Amino acid sequence: MNGSLLLANTHALRYNSCVRKTFKYRLYPNKQQQRLLEQQLEECRWLYNHLLAERRAAWEERRESLRLYDQHATLPALKAERPTLAGVQSQILQNVAVRIDLAFKAFFRRCAAGETPGYPRFRGKGRYDSITFPQVPVGCRLDMDARHLRMMNIGQLRLPRMNAGGSDPLPLSCFRLRDPRFTVRRGLRPYRAVSGGPSTGRARWLRWHRCCDHSGQPPRENAIHPLAQAKGLSGGEAVKVILHRPLEGVPKSATIRRSRTGKWYVSFSCECTEPSPLQKTGHQVGIDVGLKTFAALSTGEDIANPRFFCQEEKALAKAQRCLSKAEQGTPERAERRKVVARVYERVAWRRGDFSHQHSRHIVDSFDVIAVEDLAVNRMTHHHCLAKSIHDAAWSQFADLLSYKAAWAGRRYVAVNPAYTSQDCSQCGHRQTLPLSDRIYPCPCCGVVLDRDFNASLNILGVGLHTLGLAPRSSRIYPGE
Ligand SMILES: [Zn+2]
Repeated sequence: MNGSLLLANTHALRYNSCVRKTFKYRLYPNKQQQRLLEQQLEECRWLYNHLLAERRAAWEERRESLRLYDQHATLPALKAERPTLAGVQSQILQNVAVRIDLAFKAFFRRCAAGETPGYPRFRGKGRYDSITFPQVPVGCRLDMDARHLRMMNIGQLRLPRMNAGGSDPLPLSCFRLRDPRFTVRRGLRPYRAVSGGPSTGRARWLRWHRCCDHSGQPPRENAIHPLAQAKGLSGGEAVKVILHRPLEGVPKSATIRRSRTGKWYVSFSCECTEPSPLQKTGHQVGIDVGLKTFAALSTGEDIANPRFFCQEEKALAKAQRCLSKAEQGTPERAERRKVVARVYERVAWRRGDFSHQHSRHIVDSFDVIAVEDLAVNRMTHHHCLAKSIHDAAWSQFADLLSYKAAWAGRRYVAVNPAYTSQDCSQCGHRQTLPLSDRIYPCPCCGVVLDRDFNASLNILGVGLHTLGLAPRSSRIYPGE
């Protein structure tokens, strides 16, 4: 009995293993945790660039293509060479190699397809934004009750030894003795990053001084900074996480990400065993992308165009003007770049919210959803700058619609939009209308309809026909 139940469960898992859902939560690491996370990102960035250079060199010098497993095998030697790498959980490092491998696979695939791909690029400072734990809960565990996230190793990140010599990233020569105190030369990032003091010179110095046993003597050989054993993420302290919704399914991997505005998130990719179908409603809908309205439904409803980008255009222009006045490489510039990123973030959030709400409403109310296939005919549909933005919003909306429909057991179909705005939805008469005409008057059957509404009816007709839910109509569709 038990055995068969288990078998049935594993079968369900196997058949639905493609159903992955991602749950994203906001993280609130404290200052020290942030620094530790940033240090990890920096280590991963170094590794990424190193592995990329290795692949390039292998090809240029020996005409040899390195594989993922070749690079995985070099990781232990790299750790010996660069001790700070050992502070990053080993599976995260392996995942960096996987990312390189994926980048190259995508590059070669595009080459084979005759496209003009960009060669995988080196990542500049601050351009490496995420780390992945590929086997949750190894190294990363979400505590639903305590609303905390525990991450391994981040707290155990070793500080560079003070006077170890050899591969020591902080040799004694970096410190200057100024009786009776030490000062740290400027630009010693690793030190400041972990010391935890405020970033003013004196306070930082005090921290440093305290760690030298208050003796004023040069640090002992191999002395480890007391903060090296500091409360980190693995010890008592866990990262605060806002669980705005429960996690479903079995979490398989977790990615920690830093946004351009400095916010932290964790995304869990979960394996969900079965979709949750909604009850049938008996309604069907065709949706046309409008110019004046965001979308026209075949039920006669319209979704107004939100124009989020237009609303934020002024703020964006102002932020960008400020940015361009700041000098390169200054802290002000970094600050102002953040302001620009924040405007874009706000637009993206509002657009996402809008798309989620409307797609949810449509999936809840209709059994069959037919939309215009955007991949076809995209360029001829709209013109001028606003449309590319509009298009972006629309394709996000269509993506959300299709996955929500699949999850809810609804039928979703993308139809070729050719002639849908030229044909009469009532009698099938075809005529060309200038884009400025918002009304479709049919000279054949005399019906007068809104142009977009007429198109949405046609889209529904084609969609139903494609799904085999409606008989072949008298209209002639492309491809028949
Ligand atoms: Zn007609």
